[in-house]
Amino acid sequence: MGLKDKEPQTVEIKGNVLKCHVCGNGYFWNRKAQLNTAAMSFLNLDWANKSAICFICSECTYIHWFLG
Ligand SMILES: [Zn+2]
Repeated sequence: MGLKDKEPQTVEIKGNVLKCHVCGNGYFWNRKAQLNTAAMSFLNLDWANKSAICFICSECTYIHWFLG
């Protein structure tokens, strides 16, 4: 999948260690993503910035999205 170019890292959100919602793993790859503006409008999220951060679980590859 081309994701294994970096070592996965632990992630802290607001003082809490992020654990994968699916498998409970604590290591993630970090990606910045450009969001589709049309999709954002459709979801009524125009207030959000056009970029988001996603953390991809190194075990099951579930993607955890954060805006801004
Ligand atoms: Zn996982």
